[in-house]
Amino acid sequence: EIQLAQRVKTLTPSSTLAITAKAKELKAQGFDVIGLGAGEPDFNTPQHIIDAAIQSMNEGHTKYTPSAGLPALKKEIVNKFAQDQGITYDPSEIIVTNGAKHALYTLFQAFLNEGDEVIIPTPYWVSYPEQVKLAGGLPVYIEGKEENDYKITPEQLTSAISKKTKAVIINSPSNPTGMLYSQSELEAIGEVCLKHEVLIISDEIYEKLVYGNNRHVSIAGLSPELKEQTIIINGVSKSHSMTGWRIGYAAGNKELIKAMTNLASHSTSNPTTTAQYGSIAAYAGSQKMLQEMREAFEHRLNTIYEKLIAIPGFTCLKPQGAFYLFPNVSKACELTGFANVDDFSQALLEEAMVAVIPGSGFGAPNNIRLSYATSLELLEEAVRRMHEFVESKL
Ligand code: PLP
Repeated sequence: EIQLAQRVKTLTPSSTLAITAKAKELKAQGFDVIGLGAGEPDFNTPQHIIDAAIQSMNEGHTKYTPSAGLPALKKEIVNKFAQDQGITYDPSEIIVTNGAKHALYTLFQAFLNEGDEVIIPTPYWVSYPEQVKLAGGLPVYIEGKEENDYKITPEQLTSAISKKTKAVIINSPSNPTGMLYSQSELEAIGEVCLKHEVLIISDEIYEKLVYGNNRHVSIAGLSPELKEQTIIINGVSKSHSMTGWRIGYAAGNKELIKAMTNLASHSTSNPTTTAQYGSIAAYAGSQKMLQEMREAFEHRLNTIYEKLIAIPGFTCLKPQGAFYLFPNVSKACELTGFANVDDFSQALLEEAMVAVIPGSGFGAPNNIRLSYATSLELLEEAVRRMHEFVESKL
């Protein structure tokens, strides 16, 4: 029998897997399942990005690059920060990684010692706790309450800070809630972090997907002190519909970036060269497609939101960004006789043929997550089926 490492034995498998596997199985049996589990835009990567990647290969750019990424790509990222967020970075403060997920992984490995605490607001993106644990760290959860739009308050943060606290994660817009922190909320959180010398990990991967009158604010842009106290995580996956290319980056303290680069040099060597050339084009070229994708998401959201909250027992804050709806369905479970949301989601799949992700994996057991990164036609049909499912059990 193979003896596995302790660190993988305690890894929690992705909560999305069970439902996704079941959905696939039903699909293979010929059932008409609608999957709302996807965490990626359903658009193809813009053509000029694909063309630039192909051209780079034809020109012979098929070798290793520096571990922290191509200087030309870092330059585009520096420009992007300056233009979009008014934050000035030196290229030495940037590392390009194999997706934003790997930027986070490398960060925790470079920053945490055994027993160090990282504050993770709930609901959270599933990989944060596992990555912290893999680095020997301890996740400390604070509840982003529904009545506070699933966001944490400075008071909550203060009371969660201990001598062992090294960092807090802020994900705005949030996966799974779609909520955004305002400038004044970030100022208040920033003040606490500066006072207690807690590193702010600002995951801004959904920065470009913001709707209505909402506006994305980066905590690092609020003052020079906060820039020093923050490490920004971002990438092209969601903004440019490039999930498969695996290009993300981190921006922050030079010493920390250097340590992360050292780690990368012994693990990945560098992010895929071709994907880096594509990403240069993503930032240097036209951003028109981004606007079009954003508008398509917003149109879908506005079309199905009212229909979703019309389902008996469903309540849902209207998302301000990202591409997920995160309704509280505890009342619907009660009305239809399900013991918990996991069972409700399972029945929704088996009986109504709609695959959603139960909130338990995000630290929010009263909710389900629906992705609207799928066609409007399928979304409308899915919501119709969910409504019918609940009505039939009242
Ligand atoms: N952070 C959040 C909140 C995400 O939802 C995701 C992807 O689902 C990532 C980071 C990782 O993105 P990438 O595809 O660049 O690794």
